[in-house]
Amino acid sequence: MMNFKLTDEQQSVKEMVRKFVDKEIIPNIQEWDRQGHFEPVILKKLADLQVMGVCIPEEYGGAGMDYNTLAIVCEELERGDTAYRTAVSVHTGLNSMTLLQWGTEQQKQTYLVPQAQGQKIGAFGLTEPNAGSDVAAMNTTAARKGDYYILNGSKTWISLCDVADHFLIFAKTDHDIGHKGITAFIVERSFEGVETKAIKGKLGIRAGNTGEVFLTDVKVPVENRLGEEGEGFKIAMAALDNGRFTVAAGAVGLIEASLEASLNYCHERKTFGKEIGKHQLVQQMIAKMSANLEISRLLVFKAGWLKNQGKRNTQETSLAKWISCNAAFDAANDAVQIHGAYGYSDEYPVERFLRNSKAPVIYEGTREIHTIMQGEYALGYREDKPLRKQLPAWPFEQVSVSK
Ligand SMILES: Cc1cc2nc3c(=O)[nH]c(=O)nc-3n(C[C@H](O)[C@H](O)[C@H](O)COP(=O)(O)OP(=O)(O)OC[C@H]3O[C@@H](n4cnc5c(N)ncnc54)[C@H](O)[C@@H]3O)c2cc1C
Repeated sequence: MMNFKLTDEQQSVKEMVRKFVDKEIIPNIQEWDRQGHFEPVILKKLADLQVMGVCIPEEYGGAGMDYNTLAIVCEELERGDTAYRTAVSVHTGLNSMTLLQWGTEQQKQTYLVPQAQGQKIGAFGLTEPNAGSDVAAMNTTAARKGDYYILNGSKTWISLCDVADHFLIFAKTDHDIGHKGITAFIVERSFEGVETKAIKGKLGIRAGNTGEVFLTDVKVPVENRLGEEGEGFKIAMAALDNGRFTVAAGAVGLIEASLEASLNYCHERKTFGKEIGKHQLVQQMIAKMSANLEISRLLVFKAGWLKNQGKRNTQETSLAKWISCNAAFDAANDAVQIHGAYGYSDEYPVERFLRNSKAPVIYEGTREIHTIMQGEYALGYREDKPLRKQLPAWPFEQVSVSK
């Protein structure tokens, strides 16, 4: 049976996050964006609302809600700004959900519980100066020395780099076997040899924190290895199934924000004696935005529905991410067009939407990588096989979370 209605619980989370965004983010975001200021208090307040661990089981400190509630949170956050949705994508989607899927019981107790409660913040370090889409080209190394690994290298374009307490770092334990030589590690900021530095001059998400992580002879205990040696690539790709899901959901929020702003302006602005909304070419832009809002949201909820059932969803999540991020970019671009010259200034939020909408077309798989993936799925060159560890199905009590 199909049901497109939000549950009462999902509806109340949606309303709660919307109210929060309207009160705490929207009135301040223009100034934060101008100043390039990331406001950590927002994460603390989101933690108080149990948003930072919204879909993490209660036994691990989370709110225990379903995966589509995470999508709803991301949609509402990005209606306000991409920066705080990105923070939840990274902390919850890429880091905490990966610990939930792959972590040992000890790792979950030590790292997942405080992250789900929002007391500690997690980040995700995969990209390097010479390795973005081509993950296997990474140069960061992890050499085993007794009960430790010694990590050396650097990561770049890491969201929350200056804010995070814990990093999931991917490094090569074997340099000669490509992606099969990658291993995942939980690295604490407090470990000696970890340094971070923000990147300045970004096109968008200026209110977000993004930068470099430098690792110099960092001693990481063996018990902080996530999964097995050589399993890092699979773990990274599984993490992206969750990160991309949140990015896609956020894009839905950006389309909605672009549409809302455009509808208001269409009724407000008159040319040639009528509201600009009465001109058919303007209606065409509005129609495309409103169709893409619906299409994107449905694709996201389908991926979330698969997650709730504990099924692999790489194909569906990639499709949702690809379509909705492109649609968000188009929606923001058309929103600026509808606002004419006013859209070109920060008097209206749409120029920020346009600048913010570009990064999600690049991160967590570029537009081109997702196009290739979808082509390969259609042609039968790619298929999703079961993983050694799956994200637990929801409701959580019906499954035994791996210990
Ligand atoms: C704001 C922001 C936040 C980010 N946050 C994080 C984070 O938290 N953690 C993290 O690990 N990374 C993060 N990233 C990095 C991001 O994931 C990478 O930028 C992305 O994977 C692309 O890698 P790249 O920039 O090296 O581009 P490249 O891989 O060098 O690609 C350059 C161009 O070539 C194209 N291309 C590459 N390979 C192919 C191919 N096979 N076929 C066709 N075209 C191809 C790409 O589509 C792109 O257009 C972030 C990036 C941004 C902008």
